Amino acid sequence: MLTQQYTARLAALRDALAAASEGRYSPPEIIAVTKTHPAEEILPLMAAGQVIIGENRVQEIVEKWPDLGEKFQIHLIGRLQSNKVKYIMDKVCMIQSVDRPALALEIDRQACRHGVRMPVLIQVSPAGEEQKGGMPPEMVRPFLQEVRRMPGLAVRGLMAVMPNTQDEAYLSGLFAGMRQLFEQLREEAIDGVAMEELSMGMSGDCLLAARHGATMVRIGSALMGARNYTR
Ligand SMILES: *Cc1c(COP(=O)(O)O)cnc(C)c1O
Repeated sequence: MLTQQYTARLAALRDALAAASEGRYSPPEIIAVTKTHPAEEILPLMAAGQVIIGENRVQEIVEKWPDLGEKFQIHLIGRLQSNKVKYIMDKVCMIQSVDRPALALEIDRQACRHGVRMPVLIQVSPAGEEQKGGMPPEMVRPFLQEVRRMPGLAVRGLMAVMPNTQDEAYLSGLFAGMRQLFEQLREEAIDGVAMEELSMGMSGDCLLAARHGATMVRIGSALMGARNYTR
């Protein structure tokens, strides 16, 4: 039942994202955001062909890990406290929310302890909403210089969380600015930094994000259905 729902929604999303990319960009990959959903609602994603899931809380990842760990590739997409990095180092395959030196240092330290190189995205705050995490766009270059030699960290691109607004013109400007920063950094070909992924767009604004060249969109409610947020 859920599998059929997920399959239909994923197909519709893929079609819409491909149309929105208008042949200018490759359509973005869908990250299924499964936060707040219990494992039994997440497992049917497998049969729908969805492998990458996004979670935003360390504790939730740890709790769901026994059920999901072997079956999905988990991306951490939420704010991360440095002292919790150690709990997820062997559980996630990408950390999308790296936004400050102390966090990068701790990921590097823990990754080296585990003998891995953790793929990360640098989280940018295009609208200056610090409470959502992310650094101002102008801080990205100096930050990359700081982290590019860390052996436990593999920078793969940028991530952004957009403001919650219906103002399409405003959002378009922010998405376009992110794509421009991404392309500039890619052209600069900074040693030790790969600019391959641009993670932006959620259920409400993923088509706009696709139009502006997102390579990953993070889709929660439009795929998983709404949930009551009780915490
Ligand atoms: C929850 C969340 C999403 C998905 O939000 P929806 O609007 O439900 O698609 C995407 N990105 C981040 C960082 C989130 O926390």
